[in-house]
Amino acid sequence: MKKTTLAGVLYMMCLPAALAQTLCSPDGNVKVVVTVENGKPGYSIDYEGETFIKHSPLGLKTSLGDFTGEMKLSKISDVKKVEDRYSLQTIKKSNVVYEANEITYSFDDAKGRHIYDVIFRADNDNVAFKYKMYPIGDRLSCTVSDEATGFLFPEGSTSFLCPQMKPQGGWARTAPSYETFYTTDEPLGKNGDGYGYTFPALFRIGDAGWVMLCETGLSGEYCGSRLMGGHGNLYTVGYPTEEEFGGVGTAAPGLALPGETPWRTVTLGKTLRPIVETTVMWDMVAPVYAASQDYKYGRATWSWIIRMDASCNYEEQKEYIDFAADMGYEYVLVDALWDTQIGYEGIEKLAKYAEGKGVGLFLWYNSNGYWNDAPQGPKHKMHRLVSRREEMKWLKKTGIKGLKIDFIGSDKQQTMQMYEDMLADANEYGLMVIYHGCTIPRGWERMYPNFVSAEAVRASENLSFGQHDNDIEAVCATIHPFMRNSIGNMDFGGSTLNRHYSKDNKSGKTRRTSDVFALATAVMFQAPVQNFAIAPNNLVDAPEWAVNFMKSVPTLWDDVRFIEGYPGKYAVIARRSGEKWYVAAINAQKETLKLNVDLSSLDCGRNLTVYADDNKLQGSCKQMKLSKKNKVAVSVPTNGGALIVAE
Ligand code: CA
Repeated sequence: MKKTTLAGVLYMMCLPAALAQTLCSPDGNVKVVVTVENGKPGYSIDYEGETFIKHSPLGLKTSLGDFTGEMKLSKISDVKKVEDRYSLQTIKKSNVVYEANEITYSFDDAKGRHIYDVIFRADNDNVAFKYKMYPIGDRLSCTVSDEATGFLFPEGSTSFLCPQMKPQGGWARTAPSYETFYTTDEPLGKNGDGYGYTFPALFRIGDAGWVMLCETGLSGEYCGSRLMGGHGNLYTVGYPTEEEFGGVGTAAPGLALPGETPWRTVTLGKTLRPIVETTVMWDMVAPVYAASQDYKYGRATWSWIIRMDASCNYEEQKEYIDFAADMGYEYVLVDALWDTQIGYEGIEKLAKYAEGKGVGLFLWYNSNGYWNDAPQGPKHKMHRLVSRREEMKWLKKTGIKGLKIDFIGSDKQQTMQMYEDMLADANEYGLMVIYHGCTIPRGWERMYPNFVSAEAVRASENLSFGQHDNDIEAVCATIHPFMRNSIGNMDFGGSTLNRHYSKDNKSGKTRRTSDVFALATAVMFQAPVQNFAIAPNNLVDAPEWAVNFMKSVPTLWDDVRFIEGYPGKYAVIARRSGEKWYVAAINAQKETLKLNVDLSSLDCGRNLTVYADDNKLQGSCKQMKLSKKNKVAVSVPTNGGALIVAE
């Protein structure tokens, strides 16, 4: 009660009459102040009475002029209440209730011309804002060369960031593909490897709380942005580099006027709860087109992650279809080189065989095009409307359920248009789409109903390629629920039960994490179609309880809760599927983590199945009843996991 009263008082303090330029969240805890100082537009954000974003710049530089200075705040709209209720089964939460307040701030230039509005929204955990550019005289379009938008953090803040990759670098010129390691708790002021950072970006505001930055609502009508550092505590919005996408297409996005930028989002929390649970990426967007059909999601096996290129042959894919059927899985992902190693006729036979087993196929494609040197086929099918539709006609006829399109590596507007076009065409032919070697989704789960997930993370392939990735697998895994996977579906392709990344499970890179860790990440990492890295041999060489769990794990979730954790150290996340709650814990710290998980806030059943590791990472599974205190004590050794299923 006391809290409600305090929120009420705060809300009163935020009434527009008192502070005309202030926007508050419905509960009054988030406060945005928009001002113009010396002609420069700017804003600040307070959360629960503390400044999380200090006075920071706003403004755009366009082909019609520099609108970052000599501006005047000419009009402030009334506060508009925004309410939305939506259901979206493919994201972290199936039913979302969204309530926010919105104010439009109008800016004029020195000549008194209305140049742009900045539309700000605040809900109880997030601020989002976008620019709406207006025509100037008879000019009805422009290009935007630069954006002044920044985020100035208080002294003592630290950063959790993913450096943007060198354009046209990486393997076969496939970068930037969002596949570098995150840094954790770093001092501010660096600029990654000279190319800034990818979204999302997380900042710890000392002991006051957390801020996560991202952007959403990006279609083919703008470029993807990144975050530029190197100016002390100020980070600014940056556009793509000229070099990416083979240097073809401009870095500067074009806008028809009036026209809008994507939303820049700021998620705020005293704890990491809002960072994990936010739905801001989907709250701000609307479907671009309707689903052509009722898409079915589920689990898939894929041979490539353990057996690599050579396994993309008819016999081994048949073996994986049998394996998927044994697991009760819905799909098999046939990865690169199927066009030459299996052939189109072979795929038609394979698809029929799979159908007989109740299994559907996803097929891999190289996206190119001229923007990479990746030699794997099939190539030159997906980048262009004519070849793409021809191919999709065959895919539909063959009964293929979805595509994995790889090696895209650019955030230019031209590339974003291609992402959108591929999705729109795929929907016409009833195909779901997973992107790899790609950018992050920015609201795409809601905008494009056949979009499944994106890689845009240093994913499981690196566990197969290098030992170092295995040595720090747990460290990286504890970061994803707080960053990459919080802002969108993530195709990590993990949960390996092999001890080694090879067909014989003896050679190849060594997995350091436990089987319970594999199970915990099957829950912690979220995507509506999960390509699990399990292998047919796991039916005989992995513990029965682990295989049984992997047979039953859901991929669609109704709710998510942050329990505890710290990026880079450990993570405890709960997800609900129907009436069942799944609490997943993983630990990357050297010391064993002693957890006393409090389930009282979950309103869950009292029958528990608890998967846990001993200090040698040997897992076991036992049934128990939840005690009256609603707490479950579990130990999680380094590289280990714990999983509590309550029903
Ligand atoms: Ca990749």
